[in-house]
Amino acid sequence: MKLALIIAIFLLFAVYAQTLVTAEESEYHDIIVIGAGMAGIAAANQLNENGYDVIVLEARDRIGGRILTDNSYEGYHLDVGASWIHGVDNNPIAMLAEKYGVETVPFDNEESYIIYDENGEKIDEQRATSMWEILSKFEEFYKTERSNLAAGEDISLQDAVDKFIQNENLTAEKLNDFYFSLVWTIEGDYAADTSDISLMSFENMGYKMKGHEVIFPQGYGQIIDGLSNGLDIRLEHVVTELDYSGDTIKIKTNKGDFDAKYVINTLPLGVLKNNKVIFSPELPQEKINAISNLDMGLLNKVYFVFPDVFWDREYQWIGHIDSQKGHWAYFANLYTVLEEPVILAFNTASFAHEIEEKSNVDIVNEGLSVLKTIYGDAVTEPLYTKVTKWASDEFSFGSYSSTGVGSSNDDFYELSKQLDNKVFFAGEATEVNYPATVHGAYFSGMREANKIQWLEGNMFSPKTQLDNWVLPTYVICKDGLELLITHGGESAACVTGKTKDTLEKRGWGYENAYSQ
Ligand SMILES: Cc1cc2nc3c(=O)[nH]c(=O)nc-3n(C[C@H](O)[C@H](O)[C@H](O)COP(=O)(O)OP(=O)(O)OC[C@H]3O[C@@H](n4cnc5c(N)ncnc54)[C@H](O)[C@@H]3O)c2cc1C
Repeated sequence: MKLALIIAIFLLFAVYAQTLVTAEESEYHDIIVIGAGMAGIAAANQLNENGYDVIVLEARDRIGGRILTDNSYEGYHLDVGASWIHGVDNNPIAMLAEKYGVETVPFDNEESYIIYDENGEKIDEQRATSMWEILSKFEEFYKTERSNLAAGEDISLQDAVDKFIQNENLTAEKLNDFYFSLVWTIEGDYAADTSDISLMSFENMGYKMKGHEVIFPQGYGQIIDGLSNGLDIRLEHVVTELDYSGDTIKIKTNKGDFDAKYVINTLPLGVLKNNKVIFSPELPQEKINAISNLDMGLLNKVYFVFPDVFWDREYQWIGHIDSQKGHWAYFANLYTVLEEPVILAFNTASFAHEIEEKSNVDIVNEGLSVLKTIYGDAVTEPLYTKVTKWASDEFSFGSYSSTGVGSSNDDFYELSKQLDNKVFFAGEATEVNYPATVHGAYFSGMREANKIQWLEGNMFSPKTQLDNWVLPTYVICKDGLELLITHGGESAACVTGKTKDTLEKRGWGYENAYSQ
């Protein structure tokens, strides 16, 4: 009897001690940001500067997410993820570059190209002109097809391609050239096959801002370094569960538990699609639908650093028309801006998936053999190569988002909606006007940080929101969060006076904003 009592007391104590340990293990912060990519760092930086208690949990052993500069080959700074600021005019990333004294150079001369066929023959001007004419004709064609779609109806861009080809009766060569032009001008940008691109919505994605498109000779990573300075970022903290059922949000990671009043979740679309984090309660059905409707595309890069330039040094782009669609279709000649012998190959969509299965050595050899078809014996052994495999990256599962067939910008918006004013969503795939980009990721982080500031009674005026690069479609008006943090006409209702002028000066006229 006595023994049973002792055991019972011991067990009770053990349970009590366990509770104490659990309580101790959980670390509290007012705001926890998940993910140290551009969206997460922008949000954390804004909140940190405004005096909030904020930390960032990052799964990788580095910051930057889909911005990563490979500095491992001496003297070279190779951007493995994003390279470009897509339009520097009024672009906050360009402002940050200026603020941190980071060098940028334009790389956007679309006229500066040379194209070879699969036998390594340069295509003549007549063939190139005919190819661009067919592409322009197709653009007219698909716009008409789009205007013929019934409300709510959608088809793939490939469906339009198929119809167009039937009408045009193209020769085998012209057909091949047409496919090449699609890869170069559309599939590369959207990182998706035409069969996965929504005819209805793809051009609403409008990822570019105005002005020159520039790259960073010393790497994009410098922007991330500048913006993350002074932030409390916990690396190698893989978030596995997020419970927002109570007043305090509970986060589980591989390195212990965290509690927060607010969470800004910047998990990439690919991670959400693969259900890598368990939400309790489950995400609302509308958000689940948006995650499934949007596509996570794939664009992969291969850098080749050679001892010397053996290629057409004056052209920014080198095209390669292969009989297999998308097969090593285009190369950026970085010599034109870096004056270093570097070529950057791009592979996109299903062909990118196909080669991602191969070893790095095989991928490099395949690229070299294409270059040898064009430049023959002049091709030398590269001094250094860097291959990317974004689809198999477990913390992104792809490169960037796009509107799949049946999807629309509404899905980006749906993904951006907060849960119970506690869990907020940022990241490129939550950005209605500029998804798939670094500046879009930045805007989204600022937008969500601003929502929290509103809840905390520390809201910026619409003018300050603009000065802080929160998108006009997300200007918060005085009337209330639920009503006015929205896109389109409703938020425009509070845009008046100087704010309106600023919007218009920046080409962000609210009347151009996306509306339902
Ligand atoms: C090859 C390539 C080329 C591109 N080119 C351009 C370009 O030229 N210009 C441009 O504007 N954009 C470009 N982009 C897109 C751009 O890089 C992205 O849109 C942007 O960087 C996304 O930022 P983000 O913060 O939304 O996401 P990410 O940068 O992906 O940040 C999310 C963070 O969450 C972390 N994370 C994931 N899972 C977990 C978890 N379970 N727990 C904790 N943390 C987690 C990730 O490690 C990551 O650091 C390119 C992308 C790729 C891949």
